[in-house]
Amino acid sequence: MVQHLREKGIDDQRVLEAMTEVPRHLFLETMLDYMAYEDRALPIKCGQTISQPSTVAFQSALLDAQPEMKVLEVGTGSGYQTAVLCAMGLKVFTIERQKELYDITKPRLEQLHYRPKCFLGDGYKGLPEYGPFDRILVTCGAPYVPSDLIAQLKVGGVMIIPVGDEQQEMLRIEKKGETPDLLVQQRFGDCKFVPMRKRLDYGGK
Ligand code: SAH
Repeated sequence: MVQHLREKGIDDQRVLEAMTEVPRHLFLETMLDYMAYEDRALPIKCGQTISQPSTVAFQSALLDAQPEMKVLEVGTGSGYQTAVLCAMGLKVFTIERQKELYDITKPRLEQLHYRPKCFLGDGYKGLPEYGPFDRILVTCGAPYVPSDLIAQLKVGGVMIIPVGDEQQEMLRIEKKGETPDLLVQQRFGDCKFVPMRKRLDYGGK
């Protein structure tokens, strides 16, 4: 898998090492684990997906993070991306809106000896009491860039977020100062994520 990521142009050594180390098959339903090292997104509980390895690698490399930085991940899902961030030496805070996933993933990460702080909550609101963060990584498709997340980014911080409805565009937003004119945005092409949902009491997928 890691060789394939190299061929796809991922050359961030810390990301490649982390992805060599984290056993992706342990983040999947047993029935699907034989496909764990193929470069594809796979279904997990609650109609969600574990991101494709090349997407995890791409987003993790775009973060351009240094060890010990504080990172907020929105959309814990299976916990695979969370574990990769932990293996990169980051201090990870991760938030998931679906209780069923939170209840499976938090003990899974503990069992594998990863030490993120896991929260059940709304990614649109982030974690104001734990911020500000050096980096924010959104792993679901956001209809717009949530202002609460911008507020929780340090000056000099970076957010990676797929923005759009059906399809999204991967954005890298650097906060160069506290005012909106100091948000520097770069585009990194089209992508497709499960949607970032609004309400915690929403029953559907
Ligand atoms: N990083 C995950 C990707 C999971 S898919 C992995 O590697 O497996 C995206 C996740 O975002 C889903 O689990 C979904 O429930 C969650 N999500 C969607 N809207 C959210 C919101 N508003 N707040 C927090 N999590 C949300």
